[in-house]
Amino acid sequence: MTLPLRSERVTRAVLLAHPAGHSLSPAMHDAAFEALELDGRFEAWDVPPEGLAAALERLRTSTVLLGANVSLPHKEAVAGFLGEITPIARRLGAVNTIVRHGRTLKGDNTDLHGFSAALAELGRPPGPGRAVVLGAGGAARAVVAALLSAGCAVQVHNRDRARAAALVEAYRGEGSVELIDGRRLQQAVERADWLVNTTTVGMHGGPPGSPLPAGLLPSTGAVVDLVYRPRPTPLLAAAQAAGLPTQDGVAMLVHQGAASFQAWTGHQAPIAVMRAAVERSLAP
Ligand code: NAP
Repeated sequence: MTLPLRSERVTRAVLLAHPAGHSLSPAMHDAAFEALELDGRFEAWDVPPEGLAAALERLRTSTVLLGANVSLPHKEAVAGFLGEITPIARRLGAVNTIVRHGRTLKGDNTDLHGFSAALAELGRPPGPGRAVVLGAGGAARAVVAALLSAGCAVQVHNRDRARAAALVEAYRGEGSVELIDGRRLQQAVERADWLVNTTTVGMHGGPPGSPLPAGLLPSTGAVVDLVYRPRPTPLLAAAQAAGLPTQDGVAMLVHQGAASFQAWTGHQAPIAVMRAAVERSLAP
């Protein structure tokens, strides 16, 4: 389906999250609708878990809602309410995008694409080499999948060891992926060609500080942090001070959002416009 230009009615896409107040998605998607002269708007809906079923029913039976982005805490729970789920969302065990086709809701996941596209912008895009991933939550699943497809050997470290073990198990057979505990973390990080933080540590409002002990960084590898508030994060500030290539979470946010926008509207997303809107929203 392609959204008609200057249609009679204002169509909308929404965010389903809890809390939803600090989301950058309305600014990013509204800038895209505006730049393409589409009569669309993006709204953030603050939906607590007990309101998820009703919100999805409203989306399914609407004639003006194109679809939704899904964020914490609904990325896994939402699957039970959808008529269809793409193979990639099923593989990652999480839905971050819903597209309404008539009265059917289809769940997708654009995080893997978003992270791969972001990495392609990094001064040192991944290929064969060593990657260390900190964290084993929903975002880590997309990151590990992207790094494995780029040919990296991936080592995963997480506070909750069992969660990291489950993630590693899920990707067994898809490339070189292993769990590393605290004792091997220092050597793994120092030798890493790419280090990716997927934990919430250092995020505004999250656990403070850096996810790594002070002074521990790759010797020469690139450092990516999925967090984008504050800028830079404590981890990226340390990496920049050490002269390492770095990237924060804005690039991934924009590319996953662009893929969602394209799925809702059928139009090529104006990535530079979306990025500028995010940068403006994050400016001090
Ligand atoms: P999640 O599923 O809740 O996972 C959170 C991760 O953070 C887990 O690995 C958790 O470890 C770890 N963690 C939390 N508190 C910690 C602490 N005090 N010490 C050490 N580790 C801790 O969340 P998610 O969806 O994967 O998102 C993770 C981060 O990525 C968030 O900051 C999110 O904003 C960001 N993200 C960014 C983008 C983007 O487009 N830039 C996209 C997706 C996510 P345990 O398992 O031990 O609890």
